[in-house]
Amino acid sequence: KKIIEMRGIVKSYYLGTPNELEILHGIDLDVYEGEFLSIVGPSGSGKSTLMNILGALDRPTQGHFFLDQLPMENVKDEGLSKIRNEKIGFVFQTFNLIPRSSALNNVALPMLYGGKSRSVRTKRAKELLELVDMTARSHHRPNELSGGQKQRVAIARAMANDPAIILADEPTGALDTHTGRMVMDIFHRLHQEQGKTIILITHNTELALETERTIRLKDGSIVENKINEKIQLEG
Ligand code: ADP
Ligand code: ADP
Repeated sequence: KKIIEMRGIVKSYYLGTPNELEILHGIDLDVYEGEFLSIVGPSGSGKSTLMNILGALDRPTQGHFFLDQLPMENVKDEGLSKIRNEKIGFVFQTFNLIPRSSALNNVALPMLYGGKSRSVRTKRAKELLELVDMTARSHHRPNELSGGQKQRVAIARAMANDPAIILADEPTGALDTHTGRMVMDIFHRLHQEQGKTIILITHNTELALETERTIRLKDGSIVENKINEKIQLEG
């Protein structure tokens, strides 16, 4: 099943008459359920702009975008946040955790909008912290955690509403090699054991090679769409 279908996606910024700056120039992209995909490209190539559209944070200027078969042009602005919350788990380079909340509360928060009871939220948040091996730090606040630990909490939070897609924008960008490795291992597990569709945006070509397929962006166009050979990870 296609979880993402993009046809002729154009994104332009209007800079006042007569200037319009076209950033994405007609992107066609299909992603199938359960794929582990990477998006690579130099700074300024449009990765963040594309990610914002994929994540229903922004709308294209032209083109069609189907998210889990749903034509997004038919979704009103008020409906976007619900779709985001249900279908997508975001992971960012800078973690974006709530500073004054414990790891457990950070993970439980997205479930508030889903209307789950407190006991259900807490139970699931504990299970998710266990999944990323962070049970011992459940009651710590973000500033009491290392970068890698923060990112593990952020991944648990991204999983809170059991999203179809995990969108990770440079999730290892602020981490050292060893810690980045740990984060990648969690993504591999979510992909293999839970069948999650994962879209990884990265500058790191080695990490991209670990994914099943790599899309390369250059100056707002897809210049390569390549299946990666399966590589054996150590451990
Ligand atoms: P990245 O870390 O993704 O390489 P960039 O350095 O390209 O980010 O840009 C950082 C952010 O600044 C982008 O997400 C974008 O929203 C914003 N930005 C970049 N260029 C402009 C611009 N010319 N006008 C307004 N915002 C911009
Ligand atoms: P990447 O994530 O690959 O670094 P971005 O998507 O952040 O690339 O940016 C792609 C291009 O879009 C850049 O040239 C950037 O300057 C421009 N850009 C991004 N956001 C804006 C904005 N809000 N207004 C104008 N230009 C922007």
